[in-house]
Amino acid sequence: MDISVVIPLLDEEESLPELTNWIREVMNRNGFSYEIILVDDGSTDNSWDVIEQLKTSHPNIRGIKFRRNYGKSAALNVGFETAQGNVVITMDADLQDSPDEIPELYRRIVDERFDIISGWKQKRYDPITKTLPTKLFNAATRQMSGIKNLHDFNCGLKAYKKDVVKSIEVYGEMHRYIPVIAKWAGFRRIGEQVVEHRARKYGKTKFGLSRFINGFLDLLSIFFVGKFAKRPMHFFGTMGVLSFFAGMIITIWLIADKLVDISHGVKYRNVTDQPLFYIALVAIIVGFQLFLTGFIAELVSRNSTERNSYQIDRTV
Ligand code: UDP
Ligand code: MG
Repeated sequence: MDISVVIPLLDEEESLPELTNWIREVMNRNGFSYEIILVDDGSTDNSWDVIEQLKTSHPNIRGIKFRRNYGKSAALNVGFETAQGNVVITMDADLQDSPDEIPELYRRIVDERFDIISGWKQKRYDPITKTLPTKLFNAATRQMSGIKNLHDFNCGLKAYKKDVVKSIEVYGEMHRYIPVIAKWAGFRRIGEQVVEHRARKYGKTKFGLSRFINGFLDLLSIFFVGKFAKRPMHFFGTMGVLSFFAGMIITIWLIADKLVDISHGVKYRNVTDQPLFYIALVAIIVGFQLFLTGFIAELVSRNSTERNSYQIDRTV
């Protein structure tokens, strides 16, 4: 099979017939063998009924329905697990991404041997409350990840070589950083393609301004996960050790200072009379506790993960 199109969706009943017809038309025109994997991420409208209906006249469609809303990352992940195509293309369900981009995305993965081609919505039809935070995210993500050539990490329209999606796991809110995750997994051939971005035709966006805050928290966590990729809990241990040694150094300095005073015959000054000593003491105690916390966290995390635990309700 040439292409799997993975489409996560939440309450997109109006868009689905138009979207799947459009994809079918593009695929047939180009002679691709394909499947469309529609992942219903806990919709409360009639999306699932629409998917079942579409399936009856369109055998290339596969539907997966979550028991509840687990988020876009989980939806993409389950699509990645079941995808069979040599190239996997992800796309939003709301008709903001154009299926007409598929042939070029496919060509660049296959002919130019890219691991990932990421879409770039250079012209966006979104309010400034969305485009401005997005600009900031992208600049920060470029810096931290070292993937300097991408402008739009969060673009829903991307193409992957099959190996990429089979080697990574996307969970939590990580869907925004799939190229970064893939890079850590060793896939370095990451390219970009300017894609058409269309205004949302039906329904409304599922991501509000709270994304701004969530996105920054994600970015911080992903930065630390990146820095401490093998042992994330070492972060706490490192902070603890730093704090502990800072306290020790201050204490040693205070004692040395006192000895110098004594040797100069200056009037006796007790170490415990100095406020700095108490700051040092706190640093030592906090440092030791942080270190222990990190150590315990590491023992606990060794046997558990916070990863995907979604439940599939139905498939067609
Ligand atoms: N989506 C999803 N699960 C969610 C939220 C969104 O599967 O919890 C889907 C949504 O239906 C759409 C895609 O993710 O297909 C992008 O969402 P949306 O269009 O709301 O985001 P925006 O384009 O406004 O950034
Ligand atoms: Mg959208």
